[in-house]
Amino acid sequence: MENLSPKIEKNKPEILISSCLIGCPVRYNGSSSEVEGLGELVKQGKAIAMCPEIVGGLPIPREPVEIEQGKTAKEVLEGNAKVLDKEGKEYTEEFVNGAKELLKVCKEKGIKTVILKEGSPSCGSNKTYDGTFSGNKISGRGITAELLSQNGITVYCEHNFPKELL
Ligand code: SF4
Repeated sequence: MENLSPKIEKNKPEILISSCLIGCPVRYNGSSSEVEGLGELVKQGKAIAMCPEIVGGLPIPREPVEIEQGKTAKEVLEGNAKVLDKEGKEYTEEFVNGAKELLKVCKEKGIKTVILKEGSPSCGSNKTYDGTFSGNKISGRGITAELLSQNGITVYCEHNFPKELL
């Protein structure tokens, strides 16, 4: 007889988290930004962790980069702005590829919620640096946060995610 019961996937991850937030030393300077409790979600199989810059092919450590001054992540994704380091070397392709890879994984796994590190040119969801390498932050999204938002995924940062997720 045909089994009509719904397929139940045990421990199916429902959240994607920035790797640095679970304590992985993947930031540009080889540090992490661990937030208590998030690593536990991964250990329990409720979340997966990824770093779009590493997935996009960048090493650790790496040069800090910013979206070019006066431009947005949306413009980067449209091919109308660049991601640059202080010397003007371009990293746009790596950043866009990393963002696309995270979107692909979210789609494949049916993930609709992400918790991404605030302020990063990839992961920032409310603020990013202004492109002057002066430490100044402005309202805006990083490239991964922008692409995931554009595709209907809810993007939280480490400061505003609902604590019920823990
Ligand atoms: Fe963390 Fe995102 Fe930067 Fe990777 S790209 S180190 S996950 S903030």
